[in-house]
Amino acid sequence: MRLKNVPGAREAIAESTFCIQEDRQQELKGHWQSVFPEKQPLHIEIGMGKGQFLYGMALAHPDINYLGIEKYSSVLLRAIQKMEAAPLPNLRFLRMDAEEICNVFAPGEIDRIYLNFSDPWPKDRHAKRRLPSRQFLARYDQILAKAGVIEFKTDNQGLFDFALEELEPAGWTPLLVTRDLHSDPEASEGNIMTEYEEKFSAMGNPIYKYIIKR
Ligand code: SAM
Repeated sequence: MRLKNVPGAREAIAESTFCIQEDRQQELKGHWQSVFPEKQPLHIEIGMGKGQFLYGMALAHPDINYLGIEKYSSVLLRAIQKMEAAPLPNLRFLRMDAEEICNVFAPGEIDRIYLNFSDPWPKDRHAKRRLPSRQFLARYDQILAKAGVIEFKTDNQGLFDFALEELEPAGWTPLLVTRDLHSDPEASEGNIMTEYEEKFSAMGNPIYKYIIKR
């Protein structure tokens, strides 16, 4: 995600009713259903960027509540603007660093986690910052319900290979692995494209995907 400093982004986020403000995030630990009109399964996307995927998911699945997590105000602002134009009751956003998720969600509170086109952090010394790393898998293990799964998509072969290698040491098992999502009719059924997925698949890159459980 190219990051430009968008003037006024922080202020717009602070005023948005679609964004759960930072001072409330820890209070809501264990009570996230209270931010939605309906109590229903809770799915999150970590590193949602401008929110194209999660908005499409919330529209397609009104019986699921979605929370989008994004670190940078400048991109989160775009997701908020989309919601202002056409609000959805089952979608809300948090501006936060994913490293904080265990302070914000109670054990087992989340039913599914989506990681889409996560930043690759190519240097070895930064491996623990990669969202599919074993360090992050240990955090997801805490907040995800027993039957919960993680879905990860990327066009980055190196990151995908790394993510697969992290599974066994972290105690996770693959339910689905594909190295060409768009050519796999079963795996791509109901697939909603992320902004990056549209961009990279249009360039001819195959899309890698896994679904994992403990
Ligand atoms: N998921 C979107 C997509 O597929 O189009 C955006 C992909 S973009 C390459 C990765 C996004 O993850 C960026 O917006 C970045 O700011 C966000 N991100 C990276 N590390 C993060 C972290 N630790 N916590 C929250 N967001 C993070």
